[in-house]
Amino acid sequence: MISEKMIQMTKNSSAIRAMFEEGKQMAAQVGAENVYDFSLGNPNVPAPAEVKAAIEEIINEEDSLMVHGYMSNSGYEDVRAAIAASLNKRFATSFSENNILMTVGAAGGLNVIFKTLLNPGDEVLTFAPYFGEYRSYVSNYDGILKAVEPDTATFQPNLEKFAQMITPKTKAVIVNTPNNPTGVVYSEETIVRMAEILCAKEKEFGISIYLISDEPYRELAYDGVFVPYLTKYYHNTIVGYSFSKSLSLPGERIGYLVIPDEADESGQIIGAANVANRILGYVNAPSLFQRVIAKCLDAQVDVAYYNRNRETLYRGLTEAGFSCIKPEGAFYLFVKSPVEDEKAFCEAAKKYHLLLVPGSSFECPGYVRLAYCVSYETIVNALPKFDMLAKEYGL
Ligand code: PLP
Repeated sequence: MISEKMIQMTKNSSAIRAMFEEGKQMAAQVGAENVYDFSLGNPNVPAPAEVKAAIEEIINEEDSLMVHGYMSNSGYEDVRAAIAASLNKRFATSFSENNILMTVGAAGGLNVIFKTLLNPGDEVLTFAPYFGEYRSYVSNYDGILKAVEPDTATFQPNLEKFAQMITPKTKAVIVNTPNNPTGVVYSEETIVRMAEILCAKEKEFGISIYLISDEPYRELAYDGVFVPYLTKYYHNTIVGYSFSKSLSLPGERIGYLVIPDEADESGQIIGAANVANRILGYVNAPSLFQRVIAKCLDAQVDVAYYNRNRETLYRGLTEAGFSCIKPEGAFYLFVKSPVEDEKAFCEAAKKYHLLLVPGSSFECPGYVRLAYCVSYETIVNALPKFDMLAKEYGL
């Protein structure tokens, strides 16, 4: 007998799993090259050469017992110091290694911070559309996730609704910019206003509200768009970073949390997060890859590859008659479904072997998400299929 909570969670996750299986079946029937799978956010651009060089150097030159051993639960001090120095250089912050906690990707980091902060019944706000796993991460600690409804004109956070939804039970807010699934980057104006609202509500209710910035897509930003560093705008910001997308290392499970000194009770949070990392069973972030990323903090995946995909897909889809906001970051496009029932639209797309994710998976029905971290050829070959699909809907 599995737990009641897991019955629900298993049910929810089976939809995406089913799509993955369907894609495999389709590929077996018509050939993988004729399946246009835009469903998964798995990077297709390889890790930069610096990663391989760093692995070789570490394996060949560093002490094996140190490289593969246990260390402090928050990670190697020299690695954390290197990350703090890199952030300070890039964003004019003043972090030290004490503010950095190495985590098992962004997912591990979010679980650590929610375990650290949440009491049962505490509310966490986020903005629809949002990465669906947030619901599970918050529920893991008996918190309650509440989504602010979207402003579909811009997909910037709906701040009027946000202000109305903050209550004395609000413990945290999760933002994700550049955003999965819209590709939108929150503007500085949005962030400044959000910070003002949070400060005013903290005062009104006499509470601390932590702004958790989930930013695995920070480095995937196009056309020189400015991606504000949120600790500079709001004192109670905690950053969750990941190398899954920025260095194309999703399977290695490596990221970090930044808990700034200016956050309320920061010392207590840092101490508790350290323990949470251990007792959640992570113990510490993967040791080899902590050392690898410390040598690759200035390395970059080939963002130009994603950018060409973005331009080509956006142009092709809009010329076919679909409407969507041009993404400024990440590797997703959020397209308006030509019919209200976007799940029916996703089903219709499958006739052309186009695999899309329904917006309801992100609590934003009526839209579909395309992940364009696929080969350029896949995009070029998919566009005539999108044309046919558009014609079917009279676009
Ligand atoms: N947050 C968002 C918005 C994501 O899109 C993802 C993965 O796709 C994650 C967190 C989890 O990333 P990680 O692989 O670093 O755990």
